[in-house]
Amino acid sequence: MGIPRERVLEWLAAYDPDEITIGVVASHSSLQILHGARQEGFKTLGIAVGDNRRRLYSAFPGAQPDEWLMLEDYRELLTQAEWLRQRNVIIIPHGSLVEYLGAENFRNLELPSFGNRDILKWESNRESQRQWLELGGCTMPAVVNDPHDIDGPVIVKYAGAKGGRGYFIARDYRDFRRNVNLEEEFTIQEYVIGCRYYMHFFFDPIASDGYQVRGIGNNTGKKLGRLELLSMDRRDESNVDEFYKLGSLRDLREMNLEPSFVVTGNQPVVIRESLLPKAFELAEGTVAASYELEDEAFGMIGPFCLEAIVTDQLEFKVFEISARIVAGSNPFVGGSPYSDLNEYRMSTGRRIARSIRNSLNKGCLDELIS
Ligand code: ATP
Repeated sequence: MGIPRERVLEWLAAYDPDEITIGVVASHSSLQILHGARQEGFKTLGIAVGDNRRRLYSAFPGAQPDEWLMLEDYRELLTQAEWLRQRNVIIIPHGSLVEYLGAENFRNLELPSFGNRDILKWESNRESQRQWLELGGCTMPAVVNDPHDIDGPVIVKYAGAKGGRGYFIARDYRDFRRNVNLEEEFTIQEYVIGCRYYMHFFFDPIASDGYQVRGIGNNTGKKLGRLELLSMDRRDESNVDEFYKLGSLRDLREMNLEPSFVVTGNQPVVIRESLLPKAFELAEGTVAASYELEDEAFGMIGPFCLEAIVTDQLEFKVFEISARIVAGSNPFVGGSPYSDLNEYRMSTGRRIARSIRNSLNKGCLDELIS
């Protein structure tokens, strides 16, 4: 379903450009989103369930919203859209908003939303995600269709699992049988050995300078907009990151322990400089491909993250894309070794607000909103 484009345009036409308010669910990456919106001169609104969440923000005055919308349950947001529109609110989607509301409810939320919410249907399904990334030139880890064919390390991923919860590693069919929950839908992927890089890019379709992405297919050669690398992180994953301290996988199994991949935090990283051209090539292809996924597609807009493993052959295997701001950009509220080379102290949150500000100045806010 989703919201027809004409309705979004009607809402935006009724907005007062001098009173735009940046709204966000108070979780995930909201501190930097609120802080960045404030730096760009916007009013801010936080959305939360429970006074504890609201109280927390008093610990971070630089990110305290000007106003709060307190709810009993996040799904109540669906009934508050008109109230929010009266306040000229543009909502900035992040992983928690989509998770709390449900992807389908988010797509039908009657509120102007930053970026292209239709891209979510390509992102949230592993098969369509693969189609998109491969069209963009990314190499992904191989898929094992029949568990009997497992003949080396694989990672088993459940559909809809968030933050790697429940994933496990298997070396052969026996391992697989021992750990799998057959009640759930799963994918078996080659376990790629190498170092992980979560690369935070930003695509600005209204900027005509900088590193310009050119279209492919129907849009061949067309200038689509400007690509930036804002920052890079590596996730802390409990307990796989610390497991090695207890011995080999065999030792661990004797203790009835299995590694898990639950995200607990993020660390800043940079990639070897000679790998940057390849990183840009993959991101550029991913953006260009997003404009080819559907007829008349309104493709990738704003922040996205390519999650890749670089092998000892210096090859990138992209195992996932997040088509929105990721929490891995949180270490960079004060800038990063990459964004500082464009503009000092530019976080992803602030970059979102900056693009909204630029579009207001150029009179083309609708190009960034769905
Ligand atoms: P999120 O939606 O929070 O990004 P997810 O549930 O979709 O997470 P993935 O990001 O696909 O999960 O994987 C979780 C973790 O598992 C990764 O951060 C990485 O450490 C590990 N991982 C995933 N795929 C592979 C792979 N093919 N080879 C090696 N490790 C992998």
